[in-house]
Amino acid sequence: MLDYKAPEGGCHLGAFVEVPLGPRKVLGVVWGAGQGNWDINKVRSAYRVLDAAPMRLEMREFLRRAADYTLTPMSAMLRLATRAPGLGDPPSMRKIYRRGEGEPDRVTDARKRVLETLAEYGDLSFTLKELAEMAGVTSSVIKGLVKQNVVAEEDSPRDLPFARLDPLRPSKTLTEDQAAASTYLASEIAGARYGTTLLRGVTGSGKTEVYLEAVAAALKAGRQALVLLPEIALTAEFLKRVEERFGARPAEWHSGATMTERRRIWRMVGQGQAQLVIGARSALFLPYQNLGLIVVDEEHDTSYKQEEGVLYNARDMTVLRASICSAHVVLASATPSLESWANAENGKYKRLDLTSRFGPAVMPTMKTIDMRLDKLPSDRWVSDRLKAEVDKRIALGEQAMLFINRRGYAPITLCRACGHQVGCDDCDARMVEHRFQNRLVCHQCGESKPIPDKCPSCDAEGRMAPVGPGVERLGEEAAKLFPDARIATLSSDMYGSARALKAEIEAIAAGGADIVIGTQLVAKGHNFPNLTLVGVIDADLGLQGSDLRAAERTFQLMRQVAGRAGRAEKPGTALLQTYQPEHPVIRAILAGDEEGFWRAEAAERKQAGVPPYGRMAGIIVSGPDVAQVFDIANELARRDQPLRAIGAQVYGPAPAPIARVRGRHRVRLLVKAGKGVALQAAIARWTSQVQVKGDLRLAVDIDPQSFY
Ligand SMILES: [Zn+2]
Ligand SMILES: [Zn+2]
Repeated sequence: MLDYKAPEGGCHLGAFVEVPLGPRKVLGVVWGAGQGNWDINKVRSAYRVLDAAPMRLEMREFLRRAADYTLTPMSAMLRLATRAPGLGDPPSMRKIYRRGEGEPDRVTDARKRVLETLAEYGDLSFTLKELAEMAGVTSSVIKGLVKQNVVAEEDSPRDLPFARLDPLRPSKTLTEDQAAASTYLASEIAGARYGTTLLRGVTGSGKTEVYLEAVAAALKAGRQALVLLPEIALTAEFLKRVEERFGARPAEWHSGATMTERRRIWRMVGQGQAQLVIGARSALFLPYQNLGLIVVDEEHDTSYKQEEGVLYNARDMTVLRASICSAHVVLASATPSLESWANAENGKYKRLDLTSRFGPAVMPTMKTIDMRLDKLPSDRWVSDRLKAEVDKRIALGEQAMLFINRRGYAPITLCRACGHQVGCDDCDARMVEHRFQNRLVCHQCGESKPIPDKCPSCDAEGRMAPVGPGVERLGEEAAKLFPDARIATLSSDMYGSARALKAEIEAIAAGGADIVIGTQLVAKGHNFPNLTLVGVIDADLGLQGSDLRAAERTFQLMRQVAGRAGRAEKPGTALLQTYQPEHPVIRAILAGDEEGFWRAEAAERKQAGVPPYGRMAGIIVSGPDVAQVFDIANELARRDQPLRAIGAQVYGPAPAPIARVRGRHRVRLLVKAGKGVALQAAIARWTSQVQVKGDLRLAVDIDPQSFY
């Protein structure tokens, strides 16, 4: 918080202003009267008020409470809330560029890239600078294409309102379950008070139909609605459903949106000219004028937790935001998080269950394949039984999916002469072979290097060997086992952009492959109508490690992947390859007894006093010098009085599970506290006792989701 003199003409509370900060001009928000403890002659003046609607009181309240909750400086929260470029520019006309009617007289590489970029983004328009940057060409290449009408140049107002959505268009015919759930939500929304509903239903039970009716209820009441989705689930197929329901396209907020589009959405949302936003987690920080409903689809999804910069969980922040602006929240999932399940159990959330699958399909039959009985050679991962089942599906003209939750070709590159494993130079992590890119990649920092011919440790030539399977290697094995099948391997790093990947997934769903091989991302909300078999290559993978949520995550992921099979008229089967078929989690997955699983898991967590029955915070101290890092961490552990005062304990310091990332040593402390204590305030007092200077960093992660 800094004091400035008001600009000429004064300013309102919440106004966006341009202010001097040292030698720079930065964006600020008028937060209130100055603190006044400065020499008034030394206080600088704000330059001007920007032409944007002032930040509403409820938004300021939301940011303030979110900052307190996540122990984040307000400046970082404000950056999240103003992520639209050119906010200060006045409304005006500008030139936009899109695909024209003409064909180029001559196709150069540069021109081809322009055409590919335009094709990838469909109907969207670009500014000249944007198109040139995205295609990697100079603006003269584009101007040349404009002359031939290959690219159309048009004048457009900078920010157009979004088309009106019509909530009165007829909805799909709803089942009894769906109708009852929609009626309940509509009455809650009409009441215009805060509430949260957990909408639970197996994959294909029609949760989307239900929450689109809730959106309709909000629009009818003249309020705005927001639907949050994991980025990868925000597909053209999904947007088409929304368009069919309301007769026009909603605003889409995601990482693939152009800067021009972001700016338009930010402004239109603030003016109430965008009724519905469909977006990834950061859409929560848009300046809604009158938000009446927030839907969090796939609420258990880990991508709602931002793990860099401001560490926040969009699901929890949604509930906070809704409680401030009297909106209703719908958390939708086939496999809810234990947090949400427990909140429904204790009556904080209302729970609605959709039991029947929409239409004739049923949940797939689930079985294990005991891998201890299959004596597979060390470079094979598909058992004979699974192979036989895949063959059957191909003969019937159906699709099969082979699932492995591991990117790349092989997780380990080993020297057969000396046993050396190739690791990242900057992290304590092994490099993962990506044969598609022909490189070894560090999944922690993204650094990569060529696959070595010669062992970096003992210099032996030609002895480096991949060990273990990744999705690319599984694709290679499948090509050998099923030589006549059309095989599509899907992994996020094999496609240039999220858009290209989604397009590929849609082509496959339309029948473009017999066998789909994929990682976690194929489990998220895609419809494969002809898919009748899912084979999980290694169901045990997620059960390793000491993560508090390992069982929950494995349970959710396996149920979700299995849910891909048998979505249309044909029943599906899911086969789980495992070395521990007696493991309680594997047995719970097979039994399909979700309530039983949650209750057992809840009892264990209650016993251990961990979330959702206790509070946790992770503290990571990092820096290039390992001794300095430990000094600070040890000092924190010693001076734990502020934590003991609220009955909290501190564990550690210990090297973090990944003890070095990007050359920085990482040491972590874990704080455990009871529910209902003022944890954040105590942590703030506690960490303020130490001086974190220079290259050292201290990051606090309230309610950590991962422990890396
Ligand atoms: Zn070696
Ligand atoms: Zn690395």
